[in-house]
Amino acid sequence: MTNRIAANIVVTLSYTLRADDGEIIDSSDEGNPLVYLHGASNIVPGLEEELEGATEGDSIKASIPPEKGYGPRIGESQEVPRRLFPADAELAAGMQVVAHDDQGRQIPFFITGISEETVTVDPNHPLAGETLHFEVTIEALRDATEEEIAHGHPHGAGGHAH
Ligand code: ZN
Repeated sequence: MTNRIAANIVVTLSYTLRADDGEIIDSSDEGNPLVYLHGASNIVPGLEEELEGATEGDSIKASIPPEKGYGPRIGESQEVPRRLFPADAELAAGMQVVAHDDQGRQIPFFITGISEETVTVDPNHPLAGETLHFEVTIEALRDATEEEIAHGHPHGAGGHAH
């Protein structure tokens, strides 16, 4: 029987995420909890560690340092010409984009600002360098299916739709 969070368990949880100053950064919506596959890096590593062994109904408070969250900040944001992006690309602040260097390696970055002529891009996730203060309530646990384990994410209600 599935009663503790461990690898290959699909976890349904509700959460509130706060910054150091107590401001709410993110939360699951009422009636629309987060569903993830434990042990598959669906969530930040520090939170996955904190939830290991928890059971249905548990409420957990965890403060996750950047190293186990979205990483420390690396590099600086810069402005690049808007014309480097496809003319029909719908760009928005907060959007993650993947560029390729001349060796074809993927370089992920985030758009942090847009003007008519330029786009400001940042190599850091918006929450890089932040300590993440989570309050989590475990709503349900179940065993993952073989297909979910193979895909590395949950399917069905609240999960991945193919
Ligand atoms: Zn899938």
